[in-house]
Amino acid sequence: MIAKKTLKLSLKSLRDFAKKRLPDEELLALDERDECPLEIVRHMCSPDQLGIQLLFIPEEFGGMGGGTFDVYCVCEEMARIDLGIATAVLATFLGSDPITVGATPEQKKLWLSRIANEGLLFAYGATEPEAGSDLGALRTTADRVLQDGRVVGYKINGNKKWISNGGIADAYTVLANTPAGPSWFVVEKGTKGFTHDEPEDKHGIRLSNTAALAFSDVYVDADRLLGGVEGQGLTQAQAVFGYTRLMVAAFGLGAGWAALDRAIPYSTKRIQAGAPLSEKQGYTHKLIVPHVAHLEASRAFIEETAERIDAGEGSLNTEGAIAKYMATEAGNAAAEASIQALGGYGYTHEYMVEKISRDVRITTIYEGTSEIMEMTISRDRWQFHLKTRGQHYHEQARPLEALHAKHPNVGADIAALALHALAEVMEKARVAHLARHQHILLRLGEWIAYAECAGCLARRAARLAEGRLHEKANLRFDATALAALSRTFAREAALKVAEEGLRWIRGAGGVSDTDIAAFETSLGLPAIHRAQAGLLSEMDYIADVLYDRAAKRAAVAA
Ligand SMILES: Cc1cc2nc3c(=O)[nH]c(=O)nc-3n(C[C@H](O)[C@H](O)[C@H](O)COP(=O)(O)OP(=O)(O)OC[C@H]3O[C@@H](n4cnc5c(N)ncnc54)[C@H](O)[C@@H]3O)c2cc1C
Repeated sequence: MIAKKTLKLSLKSLRDFAKKRLPDEELLALDERDECPLEIVRHMCSPDQLGIQLLFIPEEFGGMGGGTFDVYCVCEEMARIDLGIATAVLATFLGSDPITVGATPEQKKLWLSRIANEGLLFAYGATEPEAGSDLGALRTTADRVLQDGRVVGYKINGNKKWISNGGIADAYTVLANTPAGPSWFVVEKGTKGFTHDEPEDKHGIRLSNTAALAFSDVYVDADRLLGGVEGQGLTQAQAVFGYTRLMVAAFGLGAGWAALDRAIPYSTKRIQAGAPLSEKQGYTHKLIVPHVAHLEASRAFIEETAERIDAGEGSLNTEGAIAKYMATEAGNAAAEASIQALGGYGYTHEYMVEKISRDVRITTIYEGTSEIMEMTISRDRWQFHLKTRGQHYHEQARPLEALHAKHPNVGADIAALALHALAEVMEKARVAHLARHQHILLRLGEWIAYAECAGCLARRAARLAEGRLHEKANLRFDATALAALSRTFAREAALKVAEEGLRWIRGAGGVSDTDIAAFETSLGLPAIHRAQAGLLSEMDYIADVLYDRAAKRAAVAA
């Protein structure tokens, strides 16, 4: 763990550097030229300059030993600067993950020390032309090279696609099929038979280098097989998903806020129909406030998951998937709304939100698409539902009801309604065997993510009120504002679970005409509808907070 003061200093150096070297005009010019600013990436990774990757390398190998919470803070900050550069810098971290989790002590010492001391850039080579979401379909092979009956090395053949830093990395972790199954290898740049293509011409993150790789009889010594045992590759990749998906979640969060932080000030200056747009409820309550609620619900989930991983609760892959799903979808929606919020100006390059929107689009695709996240979430929680005979989410709701008794304003009661409704939807889906329909399974993933985030945001609001948030937690909102955001999000989550659940259970034939009224009651729909009371005035309040006019309004009211 990095000391709070050190982390703050690092984030400040990063901001100062970006202000000086990466002003908007420079970012736009690089985007226009489709150019990865390698010198800047190297500066950020160099141990005697910004040294960002030092934050992630364990102290024993010359790094600063940052934890998951630190990684989240850095990723959010990087994404606020530029998601392409963030991808280039963080690709080293991703590329070194198979080393961190799977390498032998000697391999860790060699490669992690080189990253720390030499600023080595890494790339993570998993995806192939025919193997994207389904990595099990990978075709790259690593055949044993024997000498006197002993494995002395491997010959790698095949192709990788869409590899970040593919054309600029110094070293690559490459997933290839050995006779005993998928395994990770380290391949250095310049190795005979190893080539990369020209950079891809991408929709966004044009400041990052993405390239295809080709391996033609590429020989590596046996000590390049990470962990020294064949067939561990997919397990090693799985072992860090919780962590790496949190990184991309933080990218979505940072980019989403970067867009809103342009739309909010813009709307105070843009006068239409005699008043600033920021005074128009139809504008703020559609284009700004709901996106803030979604981003902050995602933040709550990211922070809680990061704390739990740092506390040693394991890799928390499903929680990582929920965080990634919610934050990247929220980031995309926020950036898209920010274009609308700036009108015609938003549609041009100059105002940046168009670029942010193109950049953040990747976050719902790489490190597992949103649909794969929905599937991951749903499959895992479905097992919880079965194992507890349908009680899992009813049980999850109870601590929130207790929290509501202690903190009646943080929306924990409404989040509990969402979780109870979820339990009922899942039970109906079980009884009618609806999880065999993939669409139902994936929609369940979405409802689970919303309901769990609602509970998490209510907990975060209560902790903030008690002054018990993580010492490095984001403090953009005070306890009253966060409670209002929590209630707003919980209302949406509860309604979503109950109404969409009803729609799809009915749509898939899971409830008959005679049973539908009883099902509506079991979902708690009347209570969920009643909980919508006060929504509009609460959104007024959140808008006042965002536009710094809450105190003024309170004074006028007094
Ligand atoms: C800019 C960029 C950078 C990248 N960087 C890296 C990197 O550094 N290293 C790396 O290894 N990879 C990288 N990737 C690859 C990325 O992780 C994959 O693109 C992603 O996992 C999706 O795989 P795919 O493109 O083959 O799409 P596919 O898997 O073919 O998916 C296409 C669509 O089908 C959906 N889909 C897929 N399977 C199912 C299913 N079973 N059921 C329902 N729907 C499904 C997906 O959600 C998606 O919407 C990068 C990609 C891009 C574009």
